[in-house]
Amino acid sequence: MCDEFASPRLWRELRERALPVDRYGAWSARHALTPMQDWLTLEAALHIVATRAPRLLLVHFLALDAFEHEHGIASPEARWALAHVDMLLGRLVDGIDRARGLDATTFMVFGDHGFVDVDDAHYPNQVLHAEGLVDLDARGKVVGRRAWVATNGVAAHVYVLDGAPRTALARLRERFASLPGVSVIESSGFNALGLPAAGEDATQGDLVLIAAPGVRFRGQATAEAAERAPLYRATHGHHPDAPELGAALVMAGPSIREGVVVDDVSMLDVAPTAAASRRRASGCRRAGPARGDARELVLLCY
Ligand SMILES: [Zn+2]
Repeated sequence: MCDEFASPRLWRELRERALPVDRYGAWSARHALTPMQDWLTLEAALHIVATRAPRLLLVHFLALDAFEHEHGIASPEARWALAHVDMLLGRLVDGIDRARGLDATTFMVFGDHGFVDVDDAHYPNQVLHAEGLVDLDARGKVVGRRAWVATNGVAAHVYVLDGAPRTALARLRERFASLPGVSVIESSGFNALGLPAAGEDATQGDLVLIAAPGVRFRGQATAEAAERAPLYRATHGHHPDAPELGAALVMAGPSIREGVVVDDVSMLDVAPTAAASRRRASGCRRAGPARGDARELVLLCY
């Protein structure tokens, strides 16, 4: 994937520096290897700041997310990952300092979700099998489906497919609502979640399921397949209003007022704030949000 989407010139430069960029994909196969991916990411970022003058550099470190999934949010492993990512950030700050100094750089450190420990799971595709909407062969392989549930952990989309009975949607709404800790959101509620209406986008399900904190969905259609799949001890993907899903936002730089603590900031304000802080830093007087809540920008910037 990186070979396909990365800039070929950058990829060639990283290879010339003997960085094993070809291993990045293989290292994504196991959470325990994510610190190696993060090392490559950091080396690539350091190379970019040393050889170019990027106006915007986005760096995504994976280890904390991976280790929280694997070991739980308050685990010693997650704490190690936090300290490790902090060290990587320190090296990035040092690299930027060497390349261009810190006076012209705004740093924003943020996550895009919080985390919740999970100790219970639902298997919605096993429910569909019990309802006669998913067919399995003798070895448990899915060979036919008139409905399917795709999940990212704590939210799931229910798709009613061709060949399902006309009553399937109503039946599944009732069936999934009876699962403990599960909320069922119908198409009338999609817009409030920022989702397209059913039918407006092929990827949008007919129902959305959201599990309460502590509960997750797993996609396997048989108990045997679920047994073989890795089991997360913590995850994310809940309703965005769940307080546990809040993430951190720390900013520092020439256009950021020091010592200011703000209340909750919407995720939609992060990018406009970055744009505004850059315009401020470059002396432009017309700073303002492209999208998002302008009030937060007033608090965050001069
Ligand atoms: Zn994750």
